[in-house]
Amino acid sequence: MTMILPHIKQIKPYVSGIQPPTGNDVIKLNLNEHPYAPSPNVLNVFRTIKEESLRRYPNSQCDELRRALARKYDVKKEQTFCGNGSSEIISLLFTVFLDRGHRIAIPDPSFALYYSMAAVHQVECLKIPVRYNFTIDTDALITAEAKAIVLVNPNAPTGLLLPPQEVERIAKHFSGLVIVDEAYIDFAEADSSIVPLIKKYKNLVVVRTFSKAYSLCGVRVGYCFADEALISALEKGKNLYNVNFISQQLALAALLDEKHLKTTTDAVKRTRDDFIKNIRKLGFNVIQSQTNFVLCSPPAHLGKDRARKLYNQLLERNIYVRYFEDKLLYDKLRISIGTEEEMKILYDYLKKLMESATFNNS
Ligand SMILES: *Cc1c(COP(=O)(O)O)cnc(C)c1O
Repeated sequence: MTMILPHIKQIKPYVSGIQPPTGNDVIKLNLNEHPYAPSPNVLNVFRTIKEESLRRYPNSQCDELRRALARKYDVKKEQTFCGNGSSEIISLLFTVFLDRGHRIAIPDPSFALYYSMAAVHQVECLKIPVRYNFTIDTDALITAEAKAIVLVNPNAPTGLLLPPQEVERIAKHFSGLVIVDEAYIDFAEADSSIVPLIKKYKNLVVVRTFSKAYSLCGVRVGYCFADEALISALEKGKNLYNVNFISQQLALAALLDEKHLKTTTDAVKRTRDDFIKNIRKLGFNVIQSQTNFVLCSPPAHLGKDRARKLYNQLLERNIYVRYFEDKLLYDKLRISIGTEEEMKILYDYLKKLMESATFNNS
């Protein structure tokens, strides 16, 4: 297949978590999906969609949704942009702002999609290792020789939040593009977002998504905030009708139900904090998460291969979590936060496994 470019051939495909067949006995905690339904307004709008709007091209600029985002975040509509999931926006950022041979600085570990996008665009990744306690070395990022810095905040898969003052320090002292991915920010403590700073720093892009906190993974809408000049560059690079009509309407309905967002994220945060407390009692080492997932390491006495073994044990019980083959993560599992009931079932099973001789000796 000589028509495939050599640098594309070399790329290892981005591997996403398994999407198992849904059934009553499956507990799916592997893709950081929301355990609760989106706002009931979303389904109401879905049911009223007219045949004509399926026949017509959608609004190519997502005007209505962007106006609503601008209102909510007190920015101008021209400082907002919508994409087919934030994945599309991430890809577009590379298309528009980064060229072959450019370099980005990004903490390691972080969201793997950035590494694969860089490879597709022949952009070099300068991976800045996190410290032993998983905190991010802000100064190493700022002083990196790079065109852009990528910061997922709170970070994935660690779940740790970099305080907004530190993020601002990056935007202030780094002269290139600063991409801050706030996919999980609604699960973090209050006032952690740096969206308001896009008015002050012309090099800052804040990427968000409806997938996680709004429970709309399947609808595929992401958005971002930045200075007007950066946004108009994104508009030039995007697909003409990048967000379909149905998705624009459903995202808008979700956005307007602020009460639902608060109730459901509060529930997830409560369940998360309880789960962390509980598995710490079982001897797990857990990072204090500010997201809807936890990164944890089973007790060390279970051996080097403990995370993979536990992953397989859980699979046998139809409990799906995430295991990464990676030198920094091989002894850890990433567990998305499900409903209170699901986390109780998981906890009870983990407790039983920790007490059972077969797991300890195998
Ligand atoms: C899930 C996730 C995304 C992708 O979101 P989509 O909007 O569904 O494409 C982006 N960034 C991070 C860090 C994520 O975890």
